[in-house]
Amino acid sequence: MNSFDINRVRNDFPILAREVYGNPLVYLDNGATTQKPQSVIDAIIHYYSEINSNVHRGVHHLSQVSTDAMEAARESVRQFINAKHVHEVIFVKGTTEGINLVAQCFGKLKIKKDDEVIISAMEHHSNIVPWQMHCEQVGAKLRVIPMDERGVLDMDAYKNMLNEKTKIVAITYVSNALGTINPVEEIIAAAHQLDVPVLLDAAQAIQHISVDVQALNVDFLVFSGHKMYGPTGIGILYGKESLLNEMPPYQGGGEMIKEVTFEKTTYNDLPFKFEAGTPHIEGIIVLKAAIDYLTEIGLDNIKKYEDDLLDYGTGLLSAVNGLKIIGTAPEKSSVLSFIVDGVHPYDIGVLLDRMGIAVRTGHHCAEPIMNQFEIPGTVRASLALYNNKEDLDKLIAGLDRALGMLR
Ligand code: PMP
Repeated sequence: MNSFDINRVRNDFPILAREVYGNPLVYLDNGATTQKPQSVIDAIIHYYSEINSNVHRGVHHLSQVSTDAMEAARESVRQFINAKHVHEVIFVKGTTEGINLVAQCFGKLKIKKDDEVIISAMEHHSNIVPWQMHCEQVGAKLRVIPMDERGVLDMDAYKNMLNEKTKIVAITYVSNALGTINPVEEIIAAAHQLDVPVLLDAAQAIQHISVDVQALNVDFLVFSGHKMYGPTGIGILYGKESLLNEMPPYQGGGEMIKEVTFEKTTYNDLPFKFEAGTPHIEGIIVLKAAIDYLTEIGLDNIKKYEDDLLDYGTGLLSAVNGLKIIGTAPEKSSVLSFIVDGVHPYDIGVLLDRMGIAVRTGHHCAEPIMNQFEIPGTVRASLALYNNKEDLDKLIAGLDRALGMLR
């Protein structure tokens, strides 16, 4: 698609035609999960009606077809993020599992007593707790880059924090609660000066920003299929070959072995060393359909469209009396988080829902952020490529009605 045709895009998503409580659905909870285009829905049906079979095992035709389709999907992910090697693409359940895998396996290899792990003040719980768990086990220290009241990381504090004890830096590319796009190139370059690897949580970046792992020179990158118009239960861990080769396996079982005796097991090569058991075959194959969809429209077109929409929504919300936007970093993506004086976010969310407007309320799995701002949570409208200005006009009209009732 050369230019972004919003009407065509909206028509690709059948769920947008449904009503909720008698009102047309306005879906603004895309940070939690995105809706699926017809091509993705069709790919699920095609998988189960034409090729369902286990992979890498059977000699029979269907097993070969599903194995080929799965490996074609791996190659499609490789191209999408521009990884050097296809075996650097590991299929996991999602971002959460990807981070847990690195925390456990890289942790076991490299993070020992008194070592340090650097994260930031704006991490999702899934990029806090796995590191905390490992640090507690071995007596290592979790260090946190502070951020200011706009939601911008203090890069001087970060650079001062890096030292010879630092074993990894794990940072979100885009904050799910604030929308901040972090200066990841600068973060990676500073860490690499001390040979410290960097993991990027790209759960909220991969669907909005074109990501090139080689250009970034990032060591690990994780993201979830369901936030990029694909299925739930499938995600990607990208890791540099040299690091993945060094790391011990994550789980034991079928697929991840070369030879097993009761005395000793030898492990399979990448990527299979990290993929024990029957994978989410359907999810993997269908993820390719989601990538094809995004690639056809083009991430640069998507970013431009969503940036305009974010500006429009920011303007509208800023004009609402008593409303404060939480997350005002100059570099932002697709998230409008806000609170309103004297009104609980949950009450706003419930009333908007009755009008067919889906937003998220609460701490967005980022409790430390809410603690820093001393608020119980926010209302979050998070945008996707199928949202339009009308959705945001409806959000404002709905908010107006809700606040009329609540104040
Ligand atoms: N990191 C960020 C920044 C997220 O927004 C999310 C999902 N809200 C996650 C990690 C976890 O993703 P998943 O639940 O798909 O594993």
